[in-house]
Parts: sequence; C-alpha cells; structure tokens
Amino acid sequence: MTKRSIKDLNLSGKRVLIRVDFNVPINNGSVTDDTRIRASLPTIEYARDQGATVLLASHLGRPKGKVCEDLTLGPVAHHLSSLIEAPVLFASNCIGGEAEAAIKKANPGGIVLLENLRFHEEEEKNETAFSKELASLADIYINDAFGTSHRAHASTEGIISHIQNSGAGLLVARELEYLGNLLNKPNRPLVAIIGGAKVSGKLEVIKNLLKSVDTLLIGGAMAYTFFHRRGFPVGQSLVEQNLLKETELIEELANKYNVRLVLPIDHIVTTTIDAKAPHELLSIDDPSIVERIGVDIGPTTSSIYAGIVQEAETVVWNGPMGVFEIDVFSKGTLALAKAMAITTATTIVGGGDSIAAISKAGVTDKITHISTGGGASLEFLGGRSLPGIAALPDK
Ligand code: AMP
Repeated sequence: MTKRSIKDLNLSGKRVLIRVDFNVPINNGSVTDDTRIRASLPTIEYARDQGATVLLASHLGRPKGKVCEDLTLGPVAHHLSSLIEAPVLFASNCIGGEAEAAIKKANPGGIVLLENLRFHEEEEKNETAFSKELASLADIYINDAFGTSHRAHASTEGIISHIQNSGAGLLVARELEYLGNLLNKPNRPLVAIIGGAKVSGKLEVIKNLLKSVDTLLIGGAMAYTFFHRRGFPVGQSLVEQNLLKETELIEELANKYNVRLVLPIDHIVTTTIDAKAPHELLSIDDPSIVERIGVDIGPTTSSIYAGIVQEAETVVWNGPMGVFEIDVFSKGTLALAKAMAITTATTIVGGGDSIAAISKAGVTDKITHISTGGGASLEFLGGRSLPGIAALPDK
C-alpha cells in the first residue's frame, strides 16, 4: 500500500480523530446490528494502546444538515462503551465548545465520540471552515471509513489538508491492500464473478476488471442482456434494452484483452418470482422459456463456475447468481459461496447480497477478505479515484 497508514504514525500523547462508519441501525435507543462498530475496534484499540486520546467521528442516516433527535449517536456511545468495557465520553456537537470540553476531560487512552457529523450541512458540502474546525480538535486524522471514502466530504477529504498528519486506519488499509492488489498485481489466474440485477449498475466495474482479469463469469439477471443480444430466447427475463450496445462492447473488450467471458449454460425458469410458482430447469438455448423468467443459474453452470474458482489463484465476487432471497432460487448463489469457501485461492467478496449469501452458507470465516465498502468498493474496482483515499498522504 502506498498510502500512509496508522502504523506509520507516532500516536503517543496525540489527539487522534478517527473517521469511522458508525452508520448502524438503531431502534428505541438501542443498536440492533453492531457489525460496523465491531469492525472499527482494531483501529480504536490500536490507537488507545499507542497512548492516543481517541476522537471518533461518524455520520448516521440522512439528517440533511439539521439536528435530528432520532439520529443522535448517543446510543452508539453506550454500545461502544459496553463493547470495549471502558467509558466513552459523548460530545453533543462534533465541533466547537461541546467537543472541546469533552476532549479536555479525556486522558490518553480515553475515547470521545462526537455527535453526528451530518447535523451540519457543511459536512456534505465539504466546506473549508467546517473542515478546519474539525481539524482543530486533533493532531492526527485517520480514515477508517472506506464505505464513505468515495464522497468528498469535510470529514473524509476536506479535513486532511488542515491537519498536521493523517493516514489510513486498519480497515481502510486492508481494503486498499486487497482491492489494490487485485487491480495491480494479482496472483493469476484472476477470476471475477459478477452477478446481480443490472449490467448498468456494474458497467464501470466490468469494463475496468476486463483490463486485469483472466476470466469473467457472469450470473444473475444481468446475463440476460448478453443473451438477448446474442439472440438467445430470454422470455420475460430482465433485459436492459438500452444496454445492448454496451454488452457488445464488453464482449469486444473481452476479446481485445484476451479475457475468457463465461455465461451460464443452464438456468431455472419460473412463471412468477414467487417461492410457490412452478419452476423448471432449462438449457439456455431452450425456446420453451416463452412467458417465463430466468431466476437462477442451473446446476451444470454451478459446477462449471465452481471448477473455474478451484483453478484460480485469486477470485473476486460481487452480486448474486439469482433471486437468492427466495430459497428455491438461491441454489446457484449458495453453491458459489461454497465453492469460494473451499478454493485455495485468495477470495474477495463484496456487495451486500454476496456477503449475505456467504453468511447464509455459513462460510464467512473461509473468505480471505470481505469488502464492506459497498459503493466505494465498486467505484474503486471501477478504476475511479476515491477522494477520501486520494487525499491521504503517501508513505
Ligand atoms: P444488484 O443490486 O445489482 O447486485 O442486484 C441484486 C438483486 O438482483 C438481488 O435482489 C437479486 O434478487 C436480483 N437478481 C439476481 N438475479 C436475478 C434474476 N435472474 N432475475 C431477477 N432478479 C435477479
């Protein structure tokens, strides 16, 4: 990784502001899913162990620049405190007197959680005066919120040019290492598996990955736009008519870069997207699909994809192979999750649905890297520079 990381900085006796992603679901004042809070604990604990006073800053929901009682980070302070078994001071404003007073009370090793950044409209507008106020609270800035790094906000980008020193937190460093290696120096064969509803949502990613992958496997509804263009019968399956030219371009690029582009050869078709609807396994060229919809890859496709995953050295997967939310149509996605679990390749999984499928298959701990960056991961894989990362200094 070329960016400076928290491990390259001397944190002892310093006030370290860590931009975390504590955008968690809260119900009746209680955190109902603390995955994101737990994910940031290694960086927080590391900074405390180094003798830093830790200031945590996050957004929660979309208060649109106004103070909104439902979106206070107060409950997160309680929750964090119980997780780390130490007090967490809560500052009822992320800048100004309240923040300064809370920070004064904290000793080295202590933690202050600042109130929701987005209670100030200047945060999303990336206003300089607000960035400076945030910067004035600390000596060092750490970005550990990869999922918001594709947005140029005051707490992700603006602050960096107004603070003495900055770097990537452990979560961000890990994302950059795995996603960066994938694009720049992957162990080969490198296989990408892209699925989900629409080609349009992953167009940039597909085009950019074609420059580095050896094999691209397509699954999910997006395969039908490719099939339609090739003249295969697709019945009522989801086809993006306005993307037929783009799929042609993708196939041309695959040829140009010598990438093996693989599409399903069998599929499950149904009369309606409903667990109780009659469904059937058909070969991809079977014209009897007529009024029916393709909703999952078939078993032969699953075993071909699993074989390709076994022979890979690196595999990246984003997007389900079918309507995996419905059990009867989730077999292809779950089979892929299991194939990812048993390969010796480095495996990287991103996207909420693929991560959920990995979890449903009970193999989360068998995956090398789960990329929780969501839209930011897709932009990174799509070759875009992320403002919150680009602004961090190099090592
Ligand atoms: P995306 O957000 O583009 O990754 O798409 C995820 C969604 O695609 C999931 O909700 C799946 O149910 C849906 N999906 C996957 N395959 C199909 C399919 N063959 N037909 C309709 N929807 C699908």
